[in-house]
Amino acid sequence: MLTNVPGYPRIGSGRELKKANEAYWAGTASLEKLQLTARQLRRQNWEAMQQAGIDLIPSNDFSYYDQVLDMCLMTGTIPARFKPLLERLASPQSLELYFAMARGYQKNGLDITAMEMTKWFDTNYHYLVPEFDTTQQYRLLSHKCVEEFREAKSLGIHTKPVIIGPLTFLLLGKIKDHSLHLHSLLEQLLPVYLQLLTALQEAGATWIQIDEPYLAMDLNPAIHQLYINTYNRIHQAIPGLQLLIATYFDALGDNLATALQLPVQALHIDLVRAPQQLTTVLQQLPAGMQLSLGVVDGRNIWKNDYQLSLALINEAVQAIGQDRVWISSACSLLHTPYDLDLEQDEQVLTREIKHWMAFAKQKLHEIADLAQIATGNNTSLAANMAAMQAKQHSPLIHKPAVKARVAALDESHATRKSPFHVRQESQEVAFQLPLFPTTTIGSFPQTAEIRQLRAQLKKGTISSEEYHQRIKAAIAETVKWQESLHLDVLVHGEFERNDMVEYFGEQLEGFVFTQNGWVQSYGSRCVKPPIIYGDVQRTHPMTVAWSSYAQSLTKKPMKGMLTGPVTILQWSFVRNDQPRADTTFQIALAIRDEVSDLEKAGIRVIQVDEPAVREGLPLRRANWDAYLQWAVQAFRIAVCSVLDDTQIHTHMCYAEFNDIIDSIAAMDADVITIETSRSQMELLEAFARFKYPNEIGPGVYDIHSPRVPTVEEMSSLLQKASTLLPARNIWVNPDCGLKTRNWPETEQSLRNMVAAAVQSRSAVLVN
Ligand code: GLN
Ligand code: ZN
Repeated sequence: MLTNVPGYPRIGSGRELKKANEAYWAGTASLEKLQLTARQLRRQNWEAMQQAGIDLIPSNDFSYYDQVLDMCLMTGTIPARFKPLLERLASPQSLELYFAMARGYQKNGLDITAMEMTKWFDTNYHYLVPEFDTTQQYRLLSHKCVEEFREAKSLGIHTKPVIIGPLTFLLLGKIKDHSLHLHSLLEQLLPVYLQLLTALQEAGATWIQIDEPYLAMDLNPAIHQLYINTYNRIHQAIPGLQLLIATYFDALGDNLATALQLPVQALHIDLVRAPQQLTTVLQQLPAGMQLSLGVVDGRNIWKNDYQLSLALINEAVQAIGQDRVWISSACSLLHTPYDLDLEQDEQVLTREIKHWMAFAKQKLHEIADLAQIATGNNTSLAANMAAMQAKQHSPLIHKPAVKARVAALDESHATRKSPFHVRQESQEVAFQLPLFPTTTIGSFPQTAEIRQLRAQLKKGTISSEEYHQRIKAAIAETVKWQESLHLDVLVHGEFERNDMVEYFGEQLEGFVFTQNGWVQSYGSRCVKPPIIYGDVQRTHPMTVAWSSYAQSLTKKPMKGMLTGPVTILQWSFVRNDQPRADTTFQIALAIRDEVSDLEKAGIRVIQVDEPAVREGLPLRRANWDAYLQWAVQAFRIAVCSVLDDTQIHTHMCYAEFNDIIDSIAAMDADVITIETSRSQMELLEAFARFKYPNEIGPGVYDIHSPRVPTVEEMSSLLQKASTLLPARNIWVNPDCGLKTRNWPETEQSLRNMVAAAVQSRSAVLVN
């Protein structure tokens, strides 16, 4: 039975690649130094897999920045705006072009914007979006894939090169010219793929992995046909290739027949996300095809349950025989941290909880173990069963009171006392706000000084009293400052928060944190997600002291600031022993208690941020409704305990609302603030068409740029908003929090924003 790994993390266990890249960008390290680090990392990864006994070890899964960008360079998919740079460079293979495409280029008289970045399917990894335009000449520009195969070979390791398949590559990208069609682009790209595959074959590659995750997404029939034609053409041109088509993140579903028609030698399927697909796949798998079973989770950090995996493996072995079955992780291990052995501080991660976990390196051993057990060597089974048993019954995880509270939830917990129009009237009486009230989204600039304060508290170099004094001073200063700007609804500034999820996770029961559990988010940026391991419970108020202190300083309403249940779930590693919905309801109850405590403490405007609702959408549309239902329900549970004249805000910072607007409305927040300034209020049309009933703050100030927006442009955005929505419902605010900005530009921008609101008020009075 062969063992397979679709891909491995590449940032290095100590984030060596991040550091090497950043030093190279800053000009403090040479290109050779960076290349040396990269070679060492590749070697370490290959050797780790070899030592673990993996048969199909990936190569070309390494990337300096992003594997989709690598494919752009490999195929010559270089956006037209990089031409002037390309002409100046000695070689198009230079890393200068590569990093310019990733990060933009503002040097030597050139000013070229970077390629756009977006999330890789439903992960938190961001890829660079290929741009297809009419100027491109597709050709095999970079031989990275072949070079890395040879590099491994010279170390005595025979690897399986990994590339992104032509259809997935095209579907991930954006077609920039309307005259271009997928079909003709494919015609142009295919010869490049053939060249690349031939080069790999000539270099001695045997198995080649072609990632086609789109085969697990919703596809139209025309794309099915393109899949079949494309792979038939590859097969005819290079008949001797051994191709593994890799699918992941969902079931093949209605694309199964297409996948099984491809003239390839092996298929990889994700059995963590979609174990139910195995039986059908086995029934229909053509005789010549091998099957790679993705049984080890590549998206989470829990130990594999060998008994569950073995049930799947045995089913496959019985149906198609041992020599056609491979054991694998479900997807690339890119989305998991490197090595659990690096977690040595038991104060941070207790021995018991650590014992339930497996990071990438441990997952390699799980894959190898499973192959051993499935072929009769049971040595590692007992220990795994014992760990699973211990976890199943651990009182650390299971809190009967929390489960009982979730079980007792009903519609009454998710319903406000009165409908919106009644609440709106009570709130107007209670707050007496002007038309076009102004507010901000929560955070204010996080200066080095503020960040240092938090770091010092963590290290214990300042006392808790001193920390509190100094954060309070920062709050007091911002309250005064907001009053001087004449903002209407104030915020405390979130100075005490490192991150909007971590801050809550650190205070709730059921969460743990690691010291080295880094996962690549994009390029050199890594994140260390909190881990939800058990029933979530709030044991004490988390924000009340800060918010009530801030409220005590002003007569204006002070907005309490919380992170919503779906966002907390979405940005953490989550439990795999209960449905995501159940975990979300537990978090919702914790937030609900915080909302109630804030209300009791006199905070009458409470914002519950849910920026991750959209990205939590399942990949397949058929699963959207079920998700949206519990996501909306969780938000409502979190906020619905309050009185009519307590105003609930929510905030979301993205622009695609069209297809989920009814769910947004169903959340029934009194006020929603959204990102709109870049799209020139385009997005508001969806709200207008839907006749969205509640109040909306369409962002008028783009906080992603240091630029100060003028009064005129913001008031014209507000003008535009008033043609689409009733003036009574419009708020005035930036697109998102201001923590990445600096004070001078923030002050000027907010001054202008308030002036724009004042202008809009008088415009309404005149009309
Ligand atoms: N309240 C948060 C802030 O202002 C919201 C951040 C977000 O939407 N991502 O920073
Ligand atoms: Zn935001």
